[in-house]
Amino acid sequence: MPQTDLTFFGEIDPPQRLLMGPGPVNAHPRVLRAMSADLLGQFDPEMTGYMNQVMSLYRPIFGTENRWTMLVDGTARAAIEASLVSLVTPGDTVLVVNFGRFGLLLQEILARVGAIIETVDAPWGETVPLDSIASAIERTAPKIVATIHGDTSTTMAQPLDGLGELVDAAGALLYVDATATIGGMELTSDRWGADIVTGGLQKCLGGPSGSAPITISTAAADHIFTRRHVEAGIRAAGTTDGAGPRIGSNYFDLAMIMDYWSEKRLNHHTEATSMLYAARECARIMLGEGMEARYARHASAGRAMTAGLRAMGLTLFGADATRMTNVTGVYIPDGVDGERIRTMMREAFEIEIGTAFGPLAGKIWRIGAMGYNAARHKVLITLGALEACLRREGFSLPAGAAVDAAMEAWEG
Ligand SMILES: *Cc1c(COP(=O)(O)O)cnc(C)c1O
Repeated sequence: MPQTDLTFFGEIDPPQRLLMGPGPVNAHPRVLRAMSADLLGQFDPEMTGYMNQVMSLYRPIFGTENRWTMLVDGTARAAIEASLVSLVTPGDTVLVVNFGRFGLLLQEILARVGAIIETVDAPWGETVPLDSIASAIERTAPKIVATIHGDTSTTMAQPLDGLGELVDAAGALLYVDATATIGGMELTSDRWGADIVTGGLQKCLGGPSGSAPITISTAAADHIFTRRHVEAGIRAAGTTDGAGPRIGSNYFDLAMIMDYWSEKRLNHHTEATSMLYAARECARIMLGEGMEARYARHASAGRAMTAGLRAMGLTLFGADATRMTNVTGVYIPDGVDGERIRTMMREAFEIEIGTAFGPLAGKIWRIGAMGYNAARHKVLITLGALEACLRREGFSLPAGAAVDAAMEAWEG
């Protein structure tokens, strides 16, 4: 066997990039420090104590009193999948409120689960009006309504006030993917009447990807546990080969995950210890800063970014009224090669900005200011760098105007 020459496999020493895309973003140094803390056994009382603390710390962040507020191990998509796999029984009708890439992701997962999928759609760059959702609910009589809060693919935030009442009146349950907004825009899960809301760490919570906070209402938890009993009943009646008709996922079975996070501590998986430390520190940083102050900081960053981009003479993508505060879509100007600019931003300035998916690929950049990176100096540096790159590519714009406008707009 040839020896592995470690000169080619050096110690990890990545460049210090400033991540100003739609996520992931740079993690707060306190989160990285928390992740280097010593490991514990998964049933150690210190460890289960930390798990209980995480449950308490995430309730205010979700805007909920839900007992079942915890973590799913995996990236944000793990919690999305766990929610849909655990809520939906094959043949259930699910209405997806769809206004971007992540509405399509919900449909992809639901198709695998065997749901009957209905949609109510908005064109990319807009959101779905509440009365359209109301008539779609009436038309399709769904068991579940699923949507996104902020869809980073289009940079739009779906207004959710009043949706819960409609869903509840129809006897359905409401699922919301808040990955892109948790920690940056206010979540009011209880006021929305949302039954399950899920997130991730790598956007406005300022952590690495790999842990997905989730909150589950009593109604949703009852639905999930009851479904399990029904399945177990079928199995006990011996209707199958003995393996039982258990459906969905084992790893992403929220009933089993809730049992693990309950006093019963029924073994399921091995809780991802270092990621739990990270999630706990993300929450501590957020609550220490103050939730209002944190939302205001993201709003300032969004105001500064949009003002700066406009002052450069660029055109923003999407509706102003429903724009997310923490990520901004901007058209790549005619005659400019978007990828060349992104490369120049990375090579000359060590700054990453985002490209776009699907119908927006090659048409817009997405520039984020999330979590640890929703900071005035980082927004100003990004705008200054973008201006320099555009000017170098021959795009004429008023020198210095972006940074001036952004400094002004930060204050509000
Ligand atoms: C970024 C994002 C995700 C990402 O999921 P990961 O599994 O963490 O990559 C999911 N949903 C939305 C709305 C997002 O913006």
